[in-house]
Amino acid sequence: MPGLDEKLQDIYSEVVGRNPGEHEFHQAVHEVLESLGPVVAKHPEYAEAAVIERLCEPERQIIFRVPWLDDNGRTRINRGFRVQFNSALGPFKGGLRFHPSVYLGIVKFLGFEQIFKNSLTGMPIGGAKGGSDFDPKGKSDAEVMRFCQSFMTELYRHVGEYTDVPAGDIGVGGREIGFLFGQYKRISNRYESGVLTGKGLTWGGSQVRKEATGYGTVFFVDEMLRANGQSFEGKRVVVSGSGNVAIYAVEKVQELGGLVVACSDSSGYVVDEKGVDLTLLKELKEVNRGRIVEYAQARGHDVHYVSSGSVWEVPCDIALPSATQNELNGADARTLIKGGCIAVGEGANMPTTPDGVRLFLDAGVLFGPGKAANAGGVATSALEMQQNASRDFWSFEHTEARLAKIMRGIHDRCAETADEFGSPGNYVVGANIAGFIPVADAMLALGVI
Ligand code: GLU
Repeated sequence: MPGLDEKLQDIYSEVVGRNPGEHEFHQAVHEVLESLGPVVAKHPEYAEAAVIERLCEPERQIIFRVPWLDDNGRTRINRGFRVQFNSALGPFKGGLRFHPSVYLGIVKFLGFEQIFKNSLTGMPIGGAKGGSDFDPKGKSDAEVMRFCQSFMTELYRHVGEYTDVPAGDIGVGGREIGFLFGQYKRISNRYESGVLTGKGLTWGGSQVRKEATGYGTVFFVDEMLRANGQSFEGKRVVVSGSGNVAIYAVEKVQELGGLVVACSDSSGYVVDEKGVDLTLLKELKEVNRGRIVEYAQARGHDVHYVSSGSVWEVPCDIALPSATQNELNGADARTLIKGGCIAVGEGANMPTTPDGVRLFLDAGVLFGPGKAANAGGVATSALEMQQNASRDFWSFEHTEARLAKIMRGIHDRCAETADEFGSPGNYVVGANIAGFIPVADAMLALGVI
């Protein structure tokens, strides 16, 4: 990793020492600190009030036991987390991830990123993340319900529309949010719609929330392309993953005239030169909760399924990593650059490793970092909170127009901030600084708390 200024290096070393073994968290902190050199030089008041040191320490971290009964009547135990990272700008806000890889370091990296992402949206929301090492894969609906009820039976005392507002992430979609909301409603005896986002459309949810992260990522990349005289029209696109973010990224790319030729899951990837069949993909993933290999089986011999290697071996003009953290490494970046890739938009959180990011930036590839490019999900969650607070329900068209405007605003602010701080065209620096400054200023105003 490149060096940090002396003061920032001290802060980073302190973070590593205080949070042993939490590699993803270290990586996320390092990546932000790398951008902040020119900011601390310009704003000595941040150092005086130890703003960065305080930012790196979550306001509150909750770890709890989640016992539940499986369909055979056996008692199972998982671990639940909620890391309430920073509430300078508004109530804590961020998703819940249910995946066997979840441990404190993952939740902290996600919560830390969420602070800057949420700030970039311009909406009044702080940063948090949570989840569990529970694996919803292969579990029955009844098992998922019992797990969610047990999870909320502990979490309810820490959340609320003015306190902390969870939502979905990997492994947590509409079904899980429903069970979590039901249990919260029952325990609290309140129909407090604003306590969770990602709700169903008939019980307090917002239009476009389901589509928002994928659509937003494509809107962000579209803005980067336009700023460089390009568009999605006729471009070959590879989207990794096949979950909620990937599906709606594919949908929007297709609407904008791009050809999505590949997508993946944790077992392999499919290449479909005629363009991904979205109806089939949605049926497979959203209804049947199946695997991507079944896509190839259903689509026939024109499609091939590859169970080894990386989806980034498929040549493309535009890459949208939308699966999970560190899924695109330096070797993948080299392959993509050699294949003529001109733009990358991170639909997932921190999907590109630090050496991958550096290679893209050095090669002049337009690179939209996750905390900017995938902010459309949480931004639309904030729109859901707005609708809940005013007991309103907006149309799809109105909500999508708001999302598009927010993504345009994030793009422009990142570009302008990168220019202002001497790194034109570098959206990583732009996003980190433009996300950081409003939080830092609010922390200064609120005193040492
Ligand atoms: N999990 C999503 C993210 O990474 C959305 C969070 C939310 O809507 O609160 O931003």
